[in-house]
Amino acid sequence: MSVKIHLGPAGIPISSKGSSTPEGIERVAELGLDAMEVEFVRGVHMKNPLARQTGKIAKEKNIILSVHAPYYINLCNPEKVKDSKKRILDSCERAHYMGAWIVVFHPGYYSGLPKDKAFELILKSCKEMDEVLEKEGWDVRLGLETTGKVSQFGTLEENIGIHKKIKNCVPVVDWAHIFARNVGRIDFEKVIKKMESIHLPMYHTHFSNIEYTVKGERNHLTINHKKPDFMELAKELLKSKIKEITLISESPILEKDSFKMRDMLANLGYKGGGK
Ligand SMILES: [Zn+2]
Repeated sequence: MSVKIHLGPAGIPISSKGSSTPEGIERVAELGLDAMEVEFVRGVHMKNPLARQTGKIAKEKNIILSVHAPYYINLCNPEKVKDSKKRILDSCERAHYMGAWIVVFHPGYYSGLPKDKAFELILKSCKEMDEVLEKEGWDVRLGLETTGKVSQFGTLEENIGIHKKIKNCVPVVDWAHIFARNVGRIDFEKVIKKMESIHLPMYHTHFSNIEYTVKGERNHLTINHKKPDFMELAKELLKSKIKEITLISESPILEKDSFKMRDMLANLGYKGGGK
């Protein structure tokens, strides 16, 4: 059992009294969790000074930060690609100032394109964005999330394919999305084996339960629905060769499900999971 697991909410904890990101981080620390995803899903409204202040508090409190870029992104559509790249790069700039190591985004929709063509378009945009990161000196990974709808680019294999071409692009596993995309099935052992095959020092993932149809994801649920079962994932993680992993709770009850994950891991003998 050598894996180190970090836990925390997608966004400011529900039990946070203050509504600012720095206050959210303080609350995460009070709760004994050690990770938080900063949500820019409806747009990047944070300015650089607040990003800096956020980074200072996260460092003081030892909280691992990630950023979720806006939802309105489609790197497969020529009319949307420019704005999409701007949204991701704006997120990267804030991530740089707050010391967040990764910016997560949903790469795009196949939009009727053959899958290999969609892959080429996303690869091209990722290359261009990676060059900007390099030029600006922003030490931030581009995190391509496994998406929940069959119409969306972003199977684990596709995202690993991009990583193999651009090292700074890394797959972000959303366990519930894989489950929804496969209409209610996930082989945790197999997914973990694929993750291990690229030997990342740190893996960023999202966990919640999920409602789905044949088209994939509908909405997120609390983890007591066992869709999918966190216990199965926990067992596989503790057996795995993964060294370090973050599980961001995207459940409607956010941090409460982080506690549940921590308890379930503890039941399996894991010591840690936050602080
Ligand atoms: Zn996402």
